[in-house]
Amino acid sequence: MSSHGFATKAIHAGQAPDSATGAIITPIYATSTFVQERPGVHKGYEYSRSGNPTRSALENCIAALEEGVAGFAFASGLAAESVIIDTLPKGSHIIATDDLYGGTFRLFDKVKRELQDLEITYVDMTDESAVVGAIRSNTRLIWVETPTNPLLKIIDLEKIAAMGTAHELITVCDNTFASTYLQKPLTLGFDLVVHSATKYLNGHSDIVAGLIVARQDDEVSRRIRFLQNAIGSVLSPFDSFLLLRGLKTLAVRMEAHCANAHAIALYLEAHPKVREVLYPGLPGSPYHRIATRQMKGYGGMVSFYLQGGAEGTERFLQAIQLFSLAESLGGVESLIEVPALMTHASIPKEVREKIGIGDTLIRLSVGIEDPDDLLRDLEQALATLN
Ligand SMILES: *Cc1c(COP(=O)(O)O)cnc(C)c1O
Repeated sequence: MSSHGFATKAIHAGQAPDSATGAIITPIYATSTFVQERPGVHKGYEYSRSGNPTRSALENCIAALEEGVAGFAFASGLAAESVIIDTLPKGSHIIATDDLYGGTFRLFDKVKRELQDLEITYVDMTDESAVVGAIRSNTRLIWVETPTNPLLKIIDLEKIAAMGTAHELITVCDNTFASTYLQKPLTLGFDLVVHSATKYLNGHSDIVAGLIVARQDDEVSRRIRFLQNAIGSVLSPFDSFLLLRGLKTLAVRMEAHCANAHAIALYLEAHPKVREVLYPGLPGSPYHRIATRQMKGYGGMVSFYLQGGAEGTERFLQAIQLFSLAESLGGVESLIEVPALMTHASIPKEVREKIGIGDTLIRLSVGIEDPDDLLRDLEQALATLN
């Protein structure tokens, strides 16, 4: 299976036809426990928190797609992230991307910092010297999110991985925004990849789920395996089934997301009522070169500022129709939001301003509808601005 291409692996890896019935699709093993022949003698499963065949299929599939050795499925992206941080000893220091997903920032800053006496330094990782400069004697882990959210900056994964190796630090990449189709951090030397599978991997906006993939079978991945069962924040068999179904079409969906987002970024960039467009696929983006090198496409997220400030932004949001005003991203349907007021509201205003998330920044999660319909909708909403 490892010699197969991405789309083939997404459809087949970990998903052999059911041995009992021949069912081509991995069944939903809705069972809490498994019968044992004699105490301790069983078919590999004993209790569904520790392991469930539907979840195993999903975990093997994502491990194959990320080109790692082991996958772990959790009840949400944040549950997965929490377990990664739980592997660290008390008093550890973490270096994290400054432009982080709001919920990750909240988990680090409002939960883990106090409970585990963590120290956290947030740095602009597009400046690699800032990352090296932040390393201390108790630094254990570097946490990277790229493309960043919502500013869509691109961080050089190869450089960060090399830094991790040189200083014996665990490197983690939140790969949610790119998806495993566009970006493979483990092949660039990262130790762990984490996903909010709620987004592109599932792609249909009907579940919340998290995944971790480990590059090697080492102390960290063994600890994650232990904690997944010991803490118990696992993904249910039903949601594992839906996520497996979503993964099967990831390759074709991502191609469509990228094509639509690219067309929209070009359209917005040329529009007189748009002040600035943030999209790594635009040749003028400061991140275009690094994105071209480390990603297979530029992704489905586009952020921009309108001319006309808060009032214009408000009017635009009222006028837009096909893009639904909602948090989240990565589904087949197009969404629009204002990060400062919605997804990133949990980040203090002064921190937001420092990293450049203005109150009128608009973020699009471009879906896979017909691109002409999306462009027409943007056009009519822009026409309401004077
Ligand atoms: C949504 C998201 C998360 C959190 O995942 P949940 O599934 O909502 O718990 C983490 N990181 C990024 C980049 C996200 O977009």
